[in-house]
This record gives sequence, structure tokens and C-alpha cells, in this order.
Amino acid sequence: MVESSDVVIVGGGAAGCATAYYLALAGVKSTIVEREGIASQASGFSAGGLNPLQGTEIPGKLGPLAWESYRLHLKLWDELREDTGIDYGGRIVSSIRLAFQESDLHELEETLDIFSAVDGFEARWLDPEEVFSLEPLATTSTIRGLYTSGNAALDSYRYTRALVEAAKKRGVTVRSAEIIGLNASGGRVTGVRLDNSTIHCGQVLLAMGPWSRLAEPWLGAYIPVDPLKGEMLRMELPAETVRHDISGGGGSIYAKPNGLVWCGATEEWKGFDRTLSQSAKYSLLEGAVRLVPDLAKGRISLHTACLRPVTPDWLPIIGKQPGWENVYLATGAGKKGVLLSPGMGKAVADLMCRGESCLPIGGFGPERFRATGAA
Ligand SMILES: Cc1cc2nc3c(=O)[nH]c(=O)nc-3n(C[C@H](O)[C@H](O)[C@H](O)COP(=O)(O)OP(=O)(O)OC[C@H]3O[C@@H](n4cnc5c(N)ncnc54)[C@H](O)[C@@H]3O)c2cc1C
Repeated sequence: MVESSDVVIVGGGAAGCATAYYLALAGVKSTIVEREGIASQASGFSAGGLNPLQGTEIPGKLGPLAWESYRLHLKLWDELREDTGIDYGGRIVSSIRLAFQESDLHELEETLDIFSAVDGFEARWLDPEEVFSLEPLATTSTIRGLYTSGNAALDSYRYTRALVEAAKKRGVTVRSAEIIGLNASGGRVTGVRLDNSTIHCGQVLLAMGPWSRLAEPWLGAYIPVDPLKGEMLRMELPAETVRHDISGGGGSIYAKPNGLVWCGATEEWKGFDRTLSQSAKYSLLEGAVRLVPDLAKGRISLHTACLRPVTPDWLPIIGKQPGWENVYLATGAGKKGVLLSPGMGKAVADLMCRGESCLPIGGFGPERFRATGAA
């Protein structure tokens, strides 16, 4: 049997699944081809934080897309829950950032200014007693705290699954397979190659996360996306749990709706190594216990490791691959790939359907990297 699809999406992470969803809303049925399972990589194991106001190049070049993506997320919570019945815990969160010494205060002052300037967001100083009354489990050895609210959070595994389920209801297909190459003729891809077969297609999206460089020989292109390893711990406190995300002194913890406390994450350039390391475990524990001493008596319920897709300029790659009529990329979103996923997915769907998007993706195209030639 000859298999074909209007669009083939390589990669079932947040970037690929969001694109499938927005294409489906526009009436385009795609096929997602994923080799290890939907949301089986970073998209299924992220911290699930959606901070549109801070990060690498935020404020800065990535600020407008981060903001538009955040607004799309706020709409998606209800839409996807009504559509699929999947509640992925989308919510606005409150955080406490702790200063342990005078030199920590400058960063907190910057955060105060950034959060205070945006409607719907809030920031205020806390003295150590106020920290304790808001969060009785937080350390008392802090000199000052900053309360912020307005950020959002979600369970990124269930979010990615919800995108896929909503897309499937509109005719999207998921194939469990590895793409090993492309069939092309005259600058057009005509199909994607699996081990023993081909799926013919009209357009292709490569949303392969940290594995995006695998497509370099397929396209004769330079796609500089490298894996940045991140490990996290999921912990249970012995009795009461925390109510806020807390950070400071090199540690970060995230309060989850089911009472678990997630600690992390590490950042290490270790190629495609996804092993769990004892050294990461101890440094995550040390950072977390500094914030919430009771975590020293906590139980680790899960230790995870996965890979962020990072480009040399820390900006995502979103757009059509130069030299190819029908090949698009959505990758390289680094530490913000869950936040950015609806913006990336909607923008690529717009480009595939209409050739343009009103989302702020200027400067994120693959053409900013040196192309080494195409078919
Ligand atoms: C510890 C940690 C914490 C994080 N916390 C946050 C956070 O709080 N907020 C945030 O916004 N972001 C966060 N991130 C970043 C975010 O998780 C990633 O940027 C995002 O998930 C990347 O999504 P993706 O779809 O591009 O890649 P992935 O999720 O890696 O998906 C790519 C998929 O492509 C598949 N694939 C690759 N090659 C092929 C092939 N040849 N054939 C078939 N399938 C293929 C892979 O199997 C994979 O499933 C975090 C990341 C880590 C590691």
C-alpha cells in the first residue's frame, strides 16, 4: 500500500505536536512520525514552567514570541481540556525567590522591575518573617525574599498528549517509526523514508529537537542544534508540602498540584548522554535542601534526565529551509521549548498554509545559519 500525507511532521515533542494541532485547526491533516513515543523526550520531562518575562534573550529578541506563546497557552488550557478531557494542570503560579547574601539582591531587583511593569503580574519584597508566614517550610537563613506571581505552569507530558489527542480528533495520524532520510527531486521533498517504506508527502516539518542535526545530510544544510542535558528530581516531603515555587542560592524547586516537589534542573553539555548521574542527584538535593531543609528527610520518587535542543544564539529555528520548496524547521527552543511551543507551532502552521504568519518570528529563520547547499 502506498502511504501518503499532506504534511509529515518528524518528531512528536511539543514543537511537532503543537504544529500538528494548529495545522489540524486550519483543516490540514498531518502525520506525526515519532520513533520513541509522543512526549518521550524533553517535552515529557520538563519542569513545565511558563515564564514569558525572563530567560535567555527575554527581555530581548525572544520577548515578543515568548509573550505571544504565553497568551496562546492561557487559551489552550480550557480549549484542550474541553476538546480532549485531558486536564494538564495549566495554572498561574506564585514564586518566592530567596536572597542569601547582599550580592543576590541585584538579580531580585531586576525581577521586581520586570514583573511590576506588566499587567497581571506582581512582585513585592518579603522580609524573612513574611517568607516564613507565606511558606513555613522555607529556610529561615535568608536575608530577603521576593514574591512574584503571574507566571504559569503545566504538566508538559500531559500537555503534549492533549495536543496530539485534539489533533487526532481532526484527522491527524501518529506513526511510531524512525525517519532515516528524505526522497527529493528538484529542491522538493516528495517523501520521508522509514526503514522499509516511504510516506509520500506535500510538505515536511522537521521538529526533531536535539537530534535535528541528523537532517543535515538529508538537506545539505547546517542545522546547529546541540543537546544540553538536564536532570531533575521529583520528591515527596514527609508531611506538609510547599505551596510556592522557590529558588535562590543555586537551587530551584517547583510545587506541583499533586504535592510532589520537583527539584532542578542541571545544565551540562554531555552530547547525547541521558544517563542518571549520582553527582547531579547530590547537587540537586543540596540546592533543594538549602531552600527547604525538610527535603533532607524527603523521598526521591523519580530522577529524570533529558536533552534540551540549543542553538548557538539561544534562539529557536522556525521557518522554511532555504533551497527547499517544502521543508520547514521548528526546533532549537532550548530552555523555553514548552513555553514557546504554541507560538512555534502556530507560526509554522501559518507558513505552511499561507506563506506568512503575524506571530513575531522575524530573525528566527534557518537562513541565519550558513547553508552548505541543497538538492
Ligand atoms: C530538565 C529540563 C527542564 C525544562 N524545563 C522547561 C520549562 O520549565 N519550561 C520550558 O518552556 N521548557 C523547559 N525545558 C525545555 C523543553 O523541555 C524543550 O525545549 C522542549 O521540550 C523541546 O521540544 P521539541 O519538540 O523541540 O523536542 P523533543 O521534546 O526532544 O522532541 C523531539 C522528538 O523528535 C523525535 N525524533 C528525533 N529524530 C527522529 C527521527 N529521525 N524519526 C522520528 N522521530 C525523531 C525524538 O524521539 C523526540 O521525541 C526543559 C528541558 C529540560 C531538559
